[in-house]
Amino acid sequence: MISVEEARNKILDAISPLGLEKVNILDALGRVIGEDVYAGRAIPPKDNSAMDGYALRAEDTRGASVESPVRLAVVEDIPAGAVPRKRVGPGEAARIMTGAPIPEGADAVIRMEDTRKEDPRVAIVVEAQKDQDIRHAGEDVHHGEKVISKGEIIRPAEVGMLASLGRSFILVHQRPLVAVVATGDELVDIDEPPSEWKIISSNSYSLAALVRESGAVLLQIGIARDNREDLVAKFRAAMRADLIVSSGGVSVGDYDLVKEIMQEVGNAMQFWQVAMKPGRPLAFGALEDVPTVGLPGNPVSSMVSFELFIRPAILKMLGHEKLFRRSVRARLGEEIVKKRGIRHFIRARIRREGEGYAVVTTGEQGSGILKSMVRANGLIVLPEEATVARAGDMVTVQFLDDSLERTPTPGF
Ligand code: AMP
Ligand code: MG
Repeated sequence: MISVEEARNKILDAISPLGLEKVNILDALGRVIGEDVYAGRAIPPKDNSAMDGYALRAEDTRGASVESPVRLAVVEDIPAGAVPRKRVGPGEAARIMTGAPIPEGADAVIRMEDTRKEDPRVAIVVEAQKDQDIRHAGEDVHHGEKVISKGEIIRPAEVGMLASLGRSFILVHQRPLVAVVATGDELVDIDEPPSEWKIISSNSYSLAALVRESGAVLLQIGIARDNREDLVAKFRAAMRADLIVSSGGVSVGDYDLVKEIMQEVGNAMQFWQVAMKPGRPLAFGALEDVPTVGLPGNPVSSMVSFELFIRPAILKMLGHEKLFRRSVRARLGEEIVKKRGIRHFIRARIRREGEGYAVVTTGEQGSGILKSMVRANGLIVLPEEATVARAGDMVTVQFLDDSLERTPTPGF
């Protein structure tokens, strides 16, 4: 038997980030950028007005008040988007709208509310300070500044920054194509005519959903029957992917042919007993050059093994540096008894409690009981050497989703 860490490290060591592709910035959302981005222009490009008002020379407004306004000649009207044509000289002002470029000669903007229109002049009723209500060229980003670094994740703010720099396309890591193969004679697909004896291949869908949730592109291969021809055919079809994930057929039953087929088609396939529950059997290697992981068939085992081994591998292919979900310590609400020697991953509900976390199990823990996975937002991780965890003990829990990142009511 090998440990969870050994299995995880062996898989991750065999995986590399995929190459780069050029995509539109909106298609880059959530992906990892593969280049440093330097500003090819200043933002804003020119000094511009932060207010609707008048551009003028601050020194001309000295002593201005409601009782004794300063009157200036209005030489021009500059709506947003217009280019100023005139220089503002002593005793002059230009009417200006927010975002419009500051005309030469002016060094301040007085907002509309502090002026009175007296065509063709304007009365200014407060003193202006130099630079008041002017947004300076490059005050957000100066020309040549590095704004986004290789390896960062593109979020809406980065999309906006790229747009403001006029960058419509950027280099990001490619998304891996991940093939999902279910195996088993007992399985039917979701919309096939129902039969009392057959099991619907839920793994085809839970694993597909996990693949998509991880950010990869799905190649749904469907169900391979437990015979040589069909398994070879399905695995061959899967080999156009960047990563193959199968479920079932890796334990010790009479029809667990996946091992045999993988060894036949694959290079250096290894079969492990991982010291964990659920999910003890695991196959790993490559079919031709495509990394391939054979997960156990039980619905919970396959999902938990995916979380531990496949999700980090997909994130690594996507170029991410942080490959693992967050773990925290939580106060256990009940007693759990386990066997010494293997690590247990117990489906659980984590909630906030004061400044920390509390956790309870979600019931029956058989590896076919998907209901307790549906109710779970995390896994309690009990170490190999433990035999019991008691109510009140602090235990490690690993999140399965971000449900605790959101709240039903606003926090402020
Ligand atoms: P196996 O690892 O092939 O022996 O499968 C173990 C058990 O997992 C089987 O008896 C099935 O009940 C269940 N199982 C296997 N594959 C699937 C699947 N694709 N969807 C749902 N259950 C499955
Ligand atoms: Mg099977």
